Amino acid sequence: GFKKKEVNILVVGLNNSGKSTVINHFKNEEEKLTEIVPTVGFNVEKFKNQNVGFTAFDMSGQGRYRDLWEHYYKDCHGIIFVIDSSDRLRLVVVREELNLLLQHPDIYGRRFPILFFANKMDVRDALSSVKIAAGLGLDQILDKSWHICASNALTGEGLQEGVEWLTQQVR
Ligand code: GDP
Repeated sequence: GFKKKEVNILVVGLNNSGKSTVINHFKNEEEKLTEIVPTVGFNVEKFKNQNVGFTAFDMSGQGRYRDLWEHYYKDCHGIIFVIDSSDRLRLVVVREELNLLLQHPDIYGRRFPILFFANKMDVRDALSSVKIAAGLGLDQILDKSWHICASNALTGEGLQEGVEWLTQQVR
């Protein structure tokens, strides 16, 4: 028969950027009820929608958990990077984490797509996706295709556009 390719998508970003809210939109009603079981100090959320597996985790701070999340880099086929556009103070931290991600040996040089959600676009004073892209230096990403969408994960605005782009790229 016809075998569908398994696809692994990582959903990353700082804590509080909106990752859980974003991936809730990709879950069916039953999956929304499943609880996230927190491991000590490090939360990983996993679920599968048809042939697409999603794995989400916080990249914030604690260096001692870095190995735990970097372990997922090897077999990912695409990344969704969620940014809180209203958190201007931590944009530099986002940039540092993004650079660490892009330079990681399991990531660098691999031609998979990265989708950025400039999330919380509804918050007053939120930075535009253009400003976020400039602030993060996205034009310097040469080994991957990338796309940025402003989103409001509470209403779902912008999420569909982003995911359509990602699906086309991964295929
Ligand atoms: P995570 O830590 O990255 O998984 O972030 P969460 O999904 O838990 O979201 C953190 C907080 O931000 C929660 O209170 C969400 O309701 C809120 N939030 C998420 N997305 C948005 C958004 O687009 N706009 C606004 N105003 N709040 C959001």
